[in-house]
Formats: sequence, structure tokens, C-alpha cells
Amino acid sequence: MQLTNRSKVVSKKEMTFAEKLYFPAILGGMGITLKHFFKKPVTVSYPEVKRDIAGVFRGQHTLKRDEKGAERCTACGLCAVACPAEAITMTAAERKKGEESLYREEKYAAVYEINMLRCIFCGLCEEACPKEAIFLTDRIVPSNFERDGFIYGKDKLVEGMNENRVDVTKRQTEEVNEFKKDKHYAHNK
Ligand code: SF4
Ligand code: SF4
Repeated sequence: MQLTNRSKVVSKKEMTFAEKLYFPAILGGMGITLKHFFKKPVTVSYPEVKRDIAGVFRGQHTLKRDEKGAERCTACGLCAVACPAEAITMTAAERKKGEESLYREEKYAAVYEINMLRCIFCGLCEEACPKEAIFLTDRIVPSNFERDGFIYGKDKLVEGMNENRVDVTKRQTEEVNEFKKDKHYAHNK
């Protein structure tokens, strides 16, 4: 029974003498290779040369700080629940007196990890976050020889201070901001 109309009947006909010599096929293959010598290469010498990528490219995540430098993440876990790859894990902790400048809310993520080998860079964590705390960026996750090296903790995820902040304004397009103003979805503060 045919499941689609794209199936082809494979013929097992005897090879001709010329085909058995293989030379015509080898010469044909070399001809194709030679043709590509004169074409503009489509490859780039990464990492020396990098392709332009869109500002909304979904690459390595960043955990944002607020305008005063306090971590925005409140360890609510919504990003982890939204993640289809189960790549995010965290441990919540309670903010102590005197830590107001470090953490924006009374609860914060003492541990926050993303397994970059599991992540499919779908961006659902960014969409689910009610605190504008997690964003994907245009940075590419570098290669690593060790699997452990792909578990990104807060040391790699939380953005730096002052000039080391990660600019995510390109992701906050007019449409995105309009969407967040909608009362029905207005959970982002
Ligand atoms: S980008 Fe998608 S897969 Fe990756 S951590 Fe976020 S929700 Fe999970
Ligand atoms: S959804 Fe946002 S605030 Fe909640 S744990 Fe994830 S990054 Fe933190």
C-alpha cells in the first residue's frame, strides 16, 4: 500500500560496462567539485569572521538587573514551568535585611541554572517571566569539551554592572511592549 504519491520504484538493473569502470562517475564528481572552486564561498571563517544576525536572535540568556543594579529574578519558577526542554532549575532563598540593593524582591534565586545542552532557544522562558528578568540575547553559546561546561549558573547568566550591562532593547519592540500593556496579559512589571 502506498502512503504517499512520492514513493519511487527502485530498479535493480545490471550496471553497464562504463558504470562498472566508475571513471565516468568519478570524473563527473570531480567536475562538480571544480565548478565550486569558481563560485563565491558560502562559508565564513568563524570565529574570526561572524555573520550578521538579527537583533532578536535567540541566543545565550541573560538575567537582568533593575536600574539600581538589583537582580530582578524573584525565583517564581514560571520560566522553568514554561520551558519545554526542562532546562531551567533554581533554588529560591529569602532576602535578608541589608540585601535590598542586591535583590529586587523579598525572594530571589540563590541558584539559577540553565542546561544549554537541553535548551532549544525557543524563548518561552522570556515570555513567561513576570519580572522582565530573563531575556535571550544575540550572543552565541560557545562550544565546550565538557558537558558540565554547558550548565550555566548565575556567574554566567546575571548581567554585569554599569558598562557591562546586556542591551536587550532590540527585543523590546513596540509590538512586544504593546502586548505587555494588554490587561489580559499585563503580568510584566
Ligand atoms: S529558551 Fe526555551 S528551551 Fe531554552 S531555557 Fe528558555 S524556555 Fe527552556
Ligand atoms: S520567571 Fe522570571 S522571575 Fe520567575 S524565576 Fe524565571 S527568571 Fe526569575
